[in-house]
Amino acid sequence: MVGGGPGAFIGPVHKMAAELDGKIELIAGAFSQSAERSRAAGASFGIDPARAYASYGEMFETESRRDDGIDFVGIATPNNLHLPVAQAALAAGIAVMSDKPATATYAEVLTLEAAVVKSGLPYGLTHTYAGYSLVREARALCASGKLGPIRKIAVEYLQGWLSSPLESTGQKQAAWRSDPALNGPGGCIGDIGTHAFHLTEYVTGLKVTSLNAALRSVVPGRRLDDDCNALLRLNNGASGVLMASQVAAGERNGMRLRVYGEVGSIEWRQEDPNRLSVKWLDGPEEIRHAAGPYLSTDALTVTRLPGGHPEGYIEAFAVLYREFADGLLAWKAGSANPLPVTLPGIEAGVRGMQFIERAIESSRTESWVDF
Ligand code: NAD
Repeated sequence: MVGGGPGAFIGPVHKMAAELDGKIELIAGAFSQSAERSRAAGASFGIDPARAYASYGEMFETESRRDDGIDFVGIATPNNLHLPVAQAALAAGIAVMSDKPATATYAEVLTLEAAVVKSGLPYGLTHTYAGYSLVREARALCASGKLGPIRKIAVEYLQGWLSSPLESTGQKQAAWRSDPALNGPGGCIGDIGTHAFHLTEYVTGLKVTSLNAALRSVVPGRRLDDDCNALLRLNNGASGVLMASQVAAGERNGMRLRVYGEVGSIEWRQEDPNRLSVKWLDGPEEIRHAAGPYLSTDALTVTRLPGGHPEGYIEAFAVLYREFADGLLAWKAGSANPLPVTLPGIEAGVRGMQFIERAIESSRTESWVDF
């Protein structure tokens, strides 16, 4: 792993998720830009002290020479490092499971895409919400056509934790996220707007073809957007509304997706992820529960526990890691195209970065922008 040093948010989640199904073990890392903190994190994760490296460059060089060297790297650093770490890994023949957004800028993701294609190595992207069983159910339901042609999408991702200038207090997660050099040019739109965008395309199977976005920095002095509203047009003629905010006081991780077809609709909320509401034009509302025997194979394949035993964020994250592990094993066995379509990859990374770039341009020019 690269990132995940003391006090980090998502690095420890990567470890828990990766190891949940017993197919992956964290054995090495460059957990921090400080050698000492990298060692401390390595000790807390219980890895061999010799494999807690001072830098990711040293890790790839040393590990690629070992017979029992790492098979892949999980990237859990601020966004500006996603490209250089992934590039260095691929160049050393090491597969990549990166956190989102894929890179800091759209130009960078095109460089990364070329490197992934050239290397032929597996590359996965941890758009966590794609790992929930009821998101897979929603996706299967949209694909089945039972809702009728999709006409409207309402997706929102509302948080309140950046309602004050937290970055000026030195709070680690806020500090890099509000620094364009470390984060990239899209603040809230990049941090959580990309999740909402990904969920929209992932569940509906549609593509956004143009958008009209308004991005603002609400908190005085903040250098990047913290509040975003966007209108979307999709490739089947449907329209959408995407709202993302990190200044929605009182909200925690309020992600919600609603998709309306001609005869039915779905609603899924991240904070209540084990229920999927399905509403019909001419029938009563259904609540589909996680692990229900009536669910699609797509949903049941990624279910670990009997109904009523809630699975959540870490389990969803672990679904993506399990798919990556199986894909990596298939790749090692000679499969040319080993990752399942359900696992977000470099294509999703390119779409996400394109979304950020187009949203910024649309907001700047106050106009519709095509993809
Ligand atoms: P964080 O600040 O908590 O952690 C970042 C870690 O990277 C720190 O430990 C830091 O020391 C380390 N780091 C920085 N430079 C490094 C270097 N040169 N070498 C090694 N380590 C280095 O940030 P976070 O909130 O955990 O976010 C990290 C990434 O994960 C971001 O890209 C973010 O967008 C993404 N993220 C994804 C999700 C999700 O749901 N998939 C959730 C949160 C964060």
